[in-house]
Amino acid sequence: MIIGVLKETQKGDNRVAITPKIAQQLIEKGFEVRVQEDAGANSSYKNSDYSKAGASIRTKDDLIKNADILIKINPFENKELEKLKKGQIIIAQLFHKSHPHDMKIIAERGATAFSMDAMPRISRAQDMDVLSSQNNLAGYKAVIKGAYEMTKIFPLMMTAAGTISPARVLVYGVGVAGLQAIATAKRLGAIVEATDIRTETKEQVESLGGKFIMVDNNGEESEGGYAKVASEDYARRQKEAVDKSLFKADLVITTAMVPGRRSPLLITEDQVKQMQNGAVIIDLAAAQGGNCELSVMNKAVIKHGVKIIGTTIAPESVSTNASDLYAKNTFNYLVHLTEGDHFKWDLEDQITDETLIVYNGKIRQNGKIA
Ligand code: NAD
Repeated sequence: MIIGVLKETQKGDNRVAITPKIAQQLIEKGFEVRVQEDAGANSSYKNSDYSKAGASIRTKDDLIKNADILIKINPFENKELEKLKKGQIIIAQLFHKSHPHDMKIIAERGATAFSMDAMPRISRAQDMDVLSSQNNLAGYKAVIKGAYEMTKIFPLMMTAAGTISPARVLVYGVGVAGLQAIATAKRLGAIVEATDIRTETKEQVESLGGKFIMVDNNGEESEGGYAKVASEDYARRQKEAVDKSLFKADLVITTAMVPGRRSPLLITEDQVKQMQNGAVIIDLAAAQGGNCELSVMNKAVIKHGVKIIGTTIAPESVSTNASDLYAKNTFNYLVHLTEGDHFKWDLEDQITDETLIVYNGKIRQNGKIA
């Protein structure tokens, strides 16, 4: 089977879905790998690296015309989808719930689509979970960006000219990104506090040396590993418990999300007014509406003396590492889906069932043809 690796077309995304190392591993598994010219150029992988790994360099048209499986990171563009052939398989993060029109085009073309972002949160899917591998890098990068924007340093420093006290970092949301943000801020020497609606994260925060701010969630626990939408009552209790830390913080990193919903509003303008002058907020939930009322996606705004940066800190800013991890996730997924060089189509398997969104021209929902 021929795998075609497409160059990302989303502005600013420097990643590539398959790296030369993984191309070689796929070839060893019996696949033929063809890569679009310069697909890896922005992640430090040259065409010659792919050639050395045994892949061939092709044009986009050639790939779309001839590959059995087309792989990308971001959703396919309409003009790419419209060229799909009957029986062709595409693998990407398709975000099918928010892109129903794309699914319709794929189905009309008689193609098949697997969506990496629909990966179930079960232990055996962990090594195929691109949301985790990429969010982990986002958590790290959020702290580095925060450090760059701050007018203070992180660690305690005793100098002849006086003592500098450590920076105070507050993290909202202790999922994959939040945990890495805590670990990174701790390593840089900050005092770190964190909170999450899922109280089971307390132990994880403490194991990284952070202080957990407990908010009574009154049984508003998670569903399938994800948080549920918090009630107004919870939001009020959260403010009461966290405000003291928020108003003392030098850097606030917000990562709170609820899948398929607007991200919860955790910091209002009124709260920003009470924060320290010069504090920085990095809002990683900005693409889903933001955790801070004043966040603007892809912008840094200064309001009431606080710099608020709305971003996804898309891991594309660390594209080499992000591509390496994404490619390994994809390799593990392909190995899971196939036997030799053919697909198993095991619809009894939860991973296949939940990630197979369009099957031979039919849109699936909850394991059934819709
Ligand atoms: P996420 O990106 O959906 O959300 C980030 C965090 O925000 C979560 O911890 C969530 O509880 C929190 N949050 C939501 N609403 C909040 C609110 N109102 N106030 C405070 N916090 C709020 O989460 P994620 O990073 O995808 O991880 C969620 C969980 O799933 C984690 O425990 C993670 O380890 C687990 N996980 C498991 C697998 C697997 O087993 N294959 C894969 C990935 C993640």
